[in-house]
Amino acid sequence: MSIYLYNTLTRKKEEFKPIKKKHVSLYACGPTVYSYAHIGNLRTYIFEDVLKRTLFCNKYKVKHVMNITDVGHLTSDADTGEDKMELAAKKESKSAWDIAKFYTNSFKKDIKELNILPPNIWCKATVHIKEQINWIKKLEKAGFTYKTSDGIYFDTSKFRDYGKLALLEKQHLQAGKRIAVGEKKNPADFALWKFSPKNEKRQMEWKSPWSEKGFPGWHIECSAMATKYLGKQFDIHCGGIDHIPIHHTNEIAQTEAITRKKWVNYWLHGEFLLLEEKMSKSKGNIITLSTIEEKGFSPLDYRYFCLNSHYRKQLTFTWEALEAARNARSRIKEKIKEMNKSKSNPEAVREYKEQFIRVINDDLNTPEALAVLWSVLKDNTLSKKDVLTLIKEFESRCPLEETRW
Ligand code: AMP
Ligand code: ZN
Repeated sequence: MSIYLYNTLTRKKEEFKPIKKKHVSLYACGPTVYSYAHIGNLRTYIFEDVLKRTLFCNKYKVKHVMNITDVGHLTSDADTGEDKMELAAKKESKSAWDIAKFYTNSFKKDIKELNILPPNIWCKATVHIKEQINWIKKLEKAGFTYKTSDGIYFDTSKFRDYGKLALLEKQHLQAGKRIAVGEKKNPADFALWKFSPKNEKRQMEWKSPWSEKGFPGWHIECSAMATKYLGKQFDIHCGGIDHIPIHHTNEIAQTEAITRKKWVNYWLHGEFLLLEEKMSKSKGNIITLSTIEEKGFSPLDYRYFCLNSHYRKQLTFTWEALEAARNARSRIKEKIKEMNKSKSNPEAVREYKEQFIRVINDDLNTPEALAVLWSVLKDNTLSKKDVLTLIKEFESRCPLEETRW
């Protein structure tokens, strides 16, 4: 059965066709580890987990790479402000390295508790400085960069397709049209390498061909690491919807400027989780998985709450809705306990399997998939064993060894 996925690049649901038969190369932008992940961030990783399990369910092998942003993500997307890691280090009186380690471990614990399958490869920005410098050198050689007093920038006007993912209009991208650009030639130009401030000692800094001390811009890590582990063309790249206009747009520009071919075939983006106002780590109005657990909920109640809504729809978090998810999960467990029929119904099992795959293959329609689960639970022609077999099938948990390729 075919899988259909909504591709941000074409704004269409498309039939999924991998580059290599039955194998999928998947890159997911990982967390910036300067603070705990909030439940909005975690919604994005739950969506990516559903994607991966759907691929397993369809008998694909998946090579899943996730980066850890442990340097270079500044407080402003305009490449100004402080590095989030260094700022957190000051606030918590720890080293930036300790901050990165602590919040990376906390993120890994969160995803485990949410039953999210880990990637095959974790890669840290700080461990791939050489690869990032090499990529910038290539861009420099090809004429896409320029130097300002604070760093090396990508000249977006040199890349013909700049903004194709976000459908950005060219006239808004030129210098002087709308916003102040400082030394940048065009407002959308972005930092590839930043020089360490002269009056301040950074904790994370490296020597480069452009300055004695500096650090990579945020976007370059994903191009350098994704191409290192997945090649110059791969199948799927995903993240939250906020990545479309800046981070992923810039990743495409700096990669395709060198490779001169389409980098990624399918770009998938998860919509935001909202509180009454936008949740953000920098504003501090965040709910974490621990907040949920402190209130007596299981992380899996939160997972269920997310699955009840389609990943491309905004979802507003309320405690009442989380309560409803918790109740639904206990009803599932009770229903299974109550089952006592021993005679199996293989035909119905086959039909439910088909129904499930049909809906989940339709752009990961998890609300419909849960509806199939509920039909299974209510069907008294099925034996307990049938139901447990189906649930296992729906979970699509593939042992790690089988997913490698
Ligand atoms: P960050 O740790 O800030 O780099 O973000 C990690 C992931 O969470 C990225 O894929 C973001 O797009 C995503 N994200 C950030 N805020 C939200 C939100 N409120 N709802 C869903 N995803 C989000
Ligand atoms: Zn990225």
